[in-house]
Amino acid sequence: MKEYKTQVVVIAAGPAGLSAAVQAAEDGAEVIVCEKAAAVGGAANMGMGPLGIGTKYQKQQMIDISVEKAFHMFMEYTHYNVDARLIKKYFEQSADTIEWLEDMGVEFEGAFRYFPKSEATWHIVKTDTGIGPRAASFMNKALYAKAQELGVTFLLETPVKKIIMEDGKVAGVLATDKNGEEITIKCKAAIIATGGAGSNKELIKEETGFTHGKDLFSFAIPGLMGEGLRMAWEAGADKLPVRIEMAASIEGTDELPGSVANVFGQPNLLVNKHGKRVMNEDYMQNVTYLANVVSHQKDKVCFSIVDSSIVKYYVRNGVDNVSLVRTNPDVSDFYEGIELAQDNGNPAFYIADTVEQLAERMGIHPDALVDTVDEYNDYCEGVDEEFFKEKKYLRPLSKGPFYAAQVRAGGYGTVGGIRINENCEACDKDFEPVPGLYAAGADSCNIYDDSYMFLLPGNSMGYAVNTGRIAGMSAAEYVEE
Ligand SMILES: Cc1cc2nc3c(=O)[nH]c(=O)nc-3n(C[C@H](O)[C@H](O)[C@H](O)COP(=O)(O)OP(=O)(O)OC[C@H]3O[C@@H](n4cnc5c(N)ncnc54)[C@H](O)[C@@H]3O)c2cc1C
Repeated sequence: MKEYKTQVVVIAAGPAGLSAAVQAAEDGAEVIVCEKAAAVGGAANMGMGPLGIGTKYQKQQMIDISVEKAFHMFMEYTHYNVDARLIKKYFEQSADTIEWLEDMGVEFEGAFRYFPKSEATWHIVKTDTGIGPRAASFMNKALYAKAQELGVTFLLETPVKKIIMEDGKVAGVLATDKNGEEITIKCKAAIIATGGAGSNKELIKEETGFTHGKDLFSFAIPGLMGEGLRMAWEAGADKLPVRIEMAASIEGTDELPGSVANVFGQPNLLVNKHGKRVMNEDYMQNVTYLANVVSHQKDKVCFSIVDSSIVKYYVRNGVDNVSLVRTNPDVSDFYEGIELAQDNGNPAFYIADTVEQLAERMGIHPDALVDTVDEYNDYCEGVDEEFFKEKKYLRPLSKGPFYAAQVRAGGYGTVGGIRINENCEACDKDFEPVPGLYAAGADSCNIYDDSYMFLLPGNSMGYAVNTGRIAGMSAAEYVEE
């Protein structure tokens, strides 16, 4: 069996692992990174950027967000059901981390909101093709280059299987190399950063009760099987709840023009299987809230409904709300898109000439939906007495054809599972650090309580990069001692 020796092994090269490797190497440690995939970057290659609070961009843009304000918001949102010390440390470090990344050559477009009611904490990475998905892959490239410059060794296609413990302390890791041969790496410290279990259907079912592909449509990258969680628990770390980082989705829109998701993602009339409204639809843009609402309904489904005059309005004027993810207000190819969905036999979309027919197709009692639509149309002439929806989004549904789409719970993957303290030391049931064991990123992300905190966007990549750095600092200090 091939054997390596180093001071710190970083398990995985997503943003948490990459940041941990760079930081530990900067602090003088000898580091080997084992990554299961053939490339580095993990899920963050799909995303756009991390959170920063109190950054120079926010100051330049006159955005009023401070560590104090964000901390209060966060603690109230989570009902203080989380580790205040870790959150404070993460937020406090986040502005420095933006500059730390810039020192490696990462550039940022500025600080952005995800949706109107969120804060501008999302630091979108600049690319050579403008703002858009996958921008953060540029950040990962810079981290990778910096780590290599600092002498970090990367073993790609090398999944870690086990943490070797001796006398209660980390003594090495067991992995398989790209030829399937077992290797051991002797080390004093191991940092686990394997990104959670977003593609592990069994673990998701067991831990959260959701059935992936039925009532949950996760868009996690492949390969996130919760191996880091298992290894940490086996090595003595305490097990905390594993949760879904919720984001609602309109199923089947990936194969259709973006206008379809864009139209149905607007604050339209939203009903459940009983034909009843379930929320103030202004908040649909917060996809975590929307996923929570959907998860509480019969069959875990809701329907976003528009009539032809609303579609006409959107086509003529552009949709009400765009985001950095759905940037284009132009939905002029909506009709082609919905026709394509029908031709493909996509069961998530419905068209009908009357509200009654639409209800029947959606499996809702027609009288119930007719009553809801009548009531909603009355609110459109006055005020929304039911859920206080903003007047500007209240548009009556009266002209067929009517269009509807299923809205389902979705998720970026899982968060949480390994107990850590504010130094990212993995801790046992007695809250004592397991000597030499650290965790960062999604594997250790127990900070949202029951719902992802989208009001401060960039939060999960921000958490990954910042806890990666904290774990790197702690591990370097430990091996030096
Ligand atoms: C489409 C999409 C868009 C997103 N956009 C944003 C955004 O703009 N802002 C934001 O804040 N968040 C965003 N996120 C979430 C964010 O990307 C994640 O929170 C973040 O990447 C988590 O970082 P991580 O390092 O913990 O894990 P990951 O990035 O998931 O990386 C985990 C790595 O572990 C490797 N691995 C797994 N098992 C092993 C093993 N046994 N041995 C070795 N390696 C292993 C995997 O191959 C992977 O490379 C997005 C997510 C998705 C899916």
